[in-house]
Amino acid sequence: MKVGIIGGGIGGAALARALLARGIETAIFEKAPAFGEVGAGVQITPNAVKAIKGIGLYDGLLARAFHPQAIVGRNWQSAAENFRIPLGEEFRAHYDAPFIHIHRADLLELFTEGLPPGICHFGLTCTGVEQTPQGARALFDDGSSFEADVIVGADGVRSAVRGAVFGETAMRWTGHMCYRALVPTGGVVDHVSPDSSFWMGPNAHVVTYYVKGGEMVNIVAVAEASEWVAESWSTRASREEMLARFEGWHGSLGRLFADVDEVFAWGLFDRDPMESWVRGHVTLLGDACHPMLPFLSQGAGMAIEDALVLAEALAGMPGDIPQALARYQAERLPRTARVQLEARERGRTYHLPTPEEMAARDAEYARRAREEPRTTGINTDWVYDYDPRAFAAAPAPETA
Ligand SMILES: Cc1cc2nc3c(=O)[nH]c(=O)nc-3n(C[C@H](O)[C@H](O)[C@H](O)COP(=O)(O)OP(=O)(O)OC[C@H]3O[C@@H](n4cnc5c(N)ncnc54)[C@H](O)[C@@H]3O)c2cc1C
Repeated sequence: MKVGIIGGGIGGAALARALLARGIETAIFEKAPAFGEVGAGVQITPNAVKAIKGIGLYDGLLARAFHPQAIVGRNWQSAAENFRIPLGEEFRAHYDAPFIHIHRADLLELFTEGLPPGICHFGLTCTGVEQTPQGARALFDDGSSFEADVIVGADGVRSAVRGAVFGETAMRWTGHMCYRALVPTGGVVDHVSPDSSFWMGPNAHVVTYYVKGGEMVNIVAVAEASEWVAESWSTRASREEMLARFEGWHGSLGRLFADVDEVFAWGLFDRDPMESWVRGHVTLLGDACHPMLPFLSQGAGMAIEDALVLAEALAGMPGDIPQALARYQAERLPRTARVQLEARERGRTYHLPTPEEMAARDAEYARRAREEPRTTGINTDWVYDYDPRAFAAAPAPETA
């Protein structure tokens, strides 16, 4: 079996590693001249860590990871704790995996460094996909094409494969824009605690966490905005703009923001869940099929889970690709749709505008923290519980 992957981001690269580990031939087609990621951090939650274990790259992940001690909810003005989810031994044992922070370039390298030479084709933009009698064919901007048993669109939120095969649909402006920055700390913890910290305030929230072994703090500062005016998807912003937008927030954040050199502003768009993402021998993976708001820290995690499940589905039923793709979709679509919709809902609860609403929310967080810390704040017990390796263990149905 041969699988063509369009897009060499985190999802496409994870799929390539998962397929190769199962003896399936693959090729990646990436429009950029080389593998690359934006200079920012990413939180990898236990469900996604389990997927990385299933792909066989757990040791490499641990070597690049920062281990936060807790997820902490903080008041935007006083820094008082609204909730605390300990991420220590008990948490790791409960989910059979840790919660880690990692620089995005390190995560991409985890998947790409072991790829055999010759399977990655750079500087090729996919312009369309067509079905063939035995499989599918991807078409590229230089006039070349690639035929395989399966073509997978892992080409991100503005997926060309999705547009060509499933039709173009408009992206939804979510009413949020976010500032992203990395601040070098030299390992000195004087601005924020080495936790995953959620600072919640009126119509905005800020997430701060350490990456690069504690050498840098990653900042994601999300604010509501009536419209996204920049022409590009991400654009440069200034430290002054970020400081002005978060004026009045706690002094630790102000000091951290003052140390920022380079800031990027992103408009946050998403889409409604798809009804189907399999057509013949073509399917989608990651942001191409389920773009989501980053408020549950799950976009990359969902792409990595998809990668393991799709590789297992194809390896389990090599003689019946339509059935293998149907199994992949049945396993993944309901879960990713729920995560997409719940991430949207978090945008509302993190940003409650009035002091009364915030106080009621925080009292509820405190109640849940007393009863079961794992269910408080971002309330992601159901996300982290999922183990994509269980799909691999499940027997594939008999082919007709
Ligand atoms: C502010 C912010 C914070 C986030 N934080 C987290 C987090 O903490 N945890 C988490 O799990 N997720 C997080 N995410 C989400 C995560 O970044 C994405 O979901 C993830 O990167 C998607 O990976 P992907 O491989 O599906 O797509 P992408 O990373 O977009 O990769 C797509 C690749 O396809 C290539 N490509 C595109 N079009 C073509 C074409 N026509 N032909 C060939 N190649 C093409 C692109 O160049 C790119 O390399 C965050 C997102 C944002 C915006």
